[in-house]
Amino acid sequence: MRLSRYFLPTLKETPAEAQIVSHRLMLRAAMVRQHAAGIYTWLPLGFAVLKRIEQIVREEQNRAGAQEMLMPTIQSAELWRESGRYDDYGKEMLRVTDRHARDMLYGPTAEEVITDVFRTSIRSYKDLPKVLYHIQWKFRDEVRPRFGVMRGREFLMKDAYSFDLDTATARHSYNQMFVAYLRTFARMGLKAIPLRAETGPIGGDLSHEFIVLADTGESEVHCHRALLEKAIPEGVDYDGDLQPLVDEWTGLYAAADEMHDVTKAATLGDDLVTARGIEVGHIFHFGTKYSAPMGATVTGPDGEPVTVAMGSYGVGVSRLVGAIIEASHDDHGIIWPESVAPFHVGLINLKVGDAATEAACAALYESLGPDRVLYDDRDERAGAKFADMDLIGLPWQVIVGPKGLGKGVVELKNRATGAREEISAESALARLA
Ligand code: ATP
Ligand code: MG
Ligand code: MG
Ligand code: MG
Repeated sequence: MRLSRYFLPTLKETPAEAQIVSHRLMLRAAMVRQHAAGIYTWLPLGFAVLKRIEQIVREEQNRAGAQEMLMPTIQSAELWRESGRYDDYGKEMLRVTDRHARDMLYGPTAEEVITDVFRTSIRSYKDLPKVLYHIQWKFRDEVRPRFGVMRGREFLMKDAYSFDLDTATARHSYNQMFVAYLRTFARMGLKAIPLRAETGPIGGDLSHEFIVLADTGESEVHCHRALLEKAIPEGVDYDGDLQPLVDEWTGLYAAADEMHDVTKAATLGDDLVTARGIEVGHIFHFGTKYSAPMGATVTGPDGEPVTVAMGSYGVGVSRLVGAIIEASHDDHGIIWPESVAPFHVGLINLKVGDAATEAACAALYESLGPDRVLYDDRDERAGAKFADMDLIGLPWQVIVGPKGLGKGVVELKNRATGAREEISAESALARLA
């Protein structure tokens, strides 16, 4: 993409309303614009990152055996009356009335919709287990939308739902998601720690929040230091027994604030980490909470009806954009991990109009592939170009000017380390391949 054509209205000034660094940088780097409180328009740069994050989530869900589908944003209130949540949900639910005076709502989550699909489609235990997911916009009328996309009112969530015959197999579905989440966040360059979370009336130990440590996070974290250094599982067999792996992770103390056990934590001594964090995912087994009132049953092996056991598994896709920036930035701007970067390389032309520089840039642009490169071909001061490129945080920069070309070199800069090298254009290409 040529920057002269790209829609990238970066801001020089730091917007006064933004309280945390990710919000400031997302506005300055022209990733989003606020439309109304907690509601954002995603501009091309922000949208590109959002799509890359979404794709990682999708790949890891699919790998774990979940199947993608798409449920509506606007839901019928009827189903929520059946589950009993229509009144309970309160003011966080955006309620809408259609022209026939029917009560509708903008979905804050989708347990009711998926349970309804399930009960009308699956009849036999032979069709279990099933894990279904979608990546869809949600709306929650948060009391205090803030921190940009981190606590929006409209936000993009991946939500998966599992259906099993009994608690034992439901635990396997839960474990599949647990491991998929470890891998998902690690692929985005994040350290996300699974914390024991509240299970509500059903009890048990099957609820974990995945939290990324950050001083600006809204959650309290208490965990064993060793969790911060644990290696992420590779080459997982999702059909095999995942319990030992999950036990390895959950055996170390880690609790969300509501689950924090001060006495137990005290025994950790210096190994106890107490910090702030951002909730980027939440997995939850809730048994028959929805399947019972909504009548989601299958015929069991003995011919008797069985109410299915369910779980739900959320990832805050749009929140992750902010969380990654909180975890990866410096005074000059964002530092994208390669896996989610909107472009791989920023190509900077230091002298627009100079024939040799234009030719070298054009050749690099073609060879690197226009989809992977943002080519700053604007007639601007070098300083302004450097500042913009650092701000938007592409992993690599290739800086091309007449002086370097005179010596047969271009400059290759790594955004994360700041390391610069003068090398030939061919070597730069080889390095960026
Ligand atoms: P929070 O504690 O931050 O309010 P939650 O516990 O209400 O989140 P869940 O119902 O567990 O959220 O939803 C799954 C995921 O959706 C969360 O882990 C989070 O990453 C994301 N999420 C929830 N609310 C928001 C929001 N208002 N804006 C952006 N992402 C959100
Ligand atoms: Mg909430
Ligand atoms: Mg929460
Ligand atoms: Mg939660």
